[in-house]
Amino acid sequence: MQKVFSIAIDGPAGAGKSTVAKAVAKRMGAVYLDTGAMYRTMGLYMKQNGVSGTDGIARASAVPKVEVRFVGDDQHMILDGVDVTGLIRTPEASILASKVSAVAEVRERMVALQREFAEGNSVVMDGRDIGTDVLPNATLKIYLTASCEVRARRRHDELRRAGREEPFEKVMADIVERDYNDSHRAASPMRQAKDAVRVDTSDMTADEVVETIVRLARAAIAG
Ligand code: C5P
Repeated sequence: MQKVFSIAIDGPAGAGKSTVAKAVAKRMGAVYLDTGAMYRTMGLYMKQNGVSGTDGIARASAVPKVEVRFVGDDQHMILDGVDVTGLIRTPEASILASKVSAVAEVRERMVALQREFAEGNSVVMDGRDIGTDVLPNATLKIYLTASCEVRARRRHDELRRAGREEPFEKVMADIVERDYNDSHRAASPMRQAKDAVRVDTSDMTADEVVETIVRLARAAIAG
C-alpha cells in the first residue's frame, strides 16, 4: 500500500492553484481540498448576517456550522445545512474571504478542520498558508505564482466563462488588493515556505505545471 502523503500548494490569487491541485490529486489518487472555499463560506456567513469589523467577525466565527461535502470529485460547501457552493465564487465573495481570513479566530477554526481532513488521508490542499502553517510537514510544498498581469487575465477569462463579465482593470485591482491583504496580515500571512519549490506558471500550460508537480511529488514520496 502506498504511504499517506500530503501536497501543499500555496500562492497568490489566479496562479492556477485550484485547476492544478485538482488535476494533481486525480493523478496521484489523493483527495483535493480547496481551503479558499472555506474562507469564502465564512465571508458569506458574515455578509448574510451583517457582521463586520474584526471583533464582530472574531465573535461570530464560532457560530456557523461549516461543512465540506464531496459530490463525486466536486467539493461542496455547506453553511448551516445549506449548500452555498454556487454563491461563493463572485468577486465580492473573494474580497469578503480575504477580509475574514485575516481574523485569527476564523483561521483557527478553518485550520483545525483542514488538519482533521488530512489525518489518515492522502491530500492535495491549496491555499495561502498550507505549507507554512496547516501542514508544516507536508511531503511536498509548492509555491505557485505568475505575473500579476497573467493572473488577472486568467481570472478575467474564468469569470467570463462563468457568465460574469467584469472590466479587466477591476479584476486586476481586486487581485492586487487581495494579494496585499493576504501577504500583509498578522495571522499567517501568505509567504513561500522555506522548503517550498517555487513554480512560476506565467509561461507554462496547466498540463506542464501538473506534470512538474506530479514528478516532484513522486520523487518526494519515494523519498
Ligand atoms: O483561494 P481563494 O482565492 O478561493 O481564497 C479566497 C481568499 O481566502 C484568499 O484571498 C485568502 O484571503 C483566503 N485564504 C486564506 N488561506 C487559505 C486559503 C484562502 O487566507 N488557506
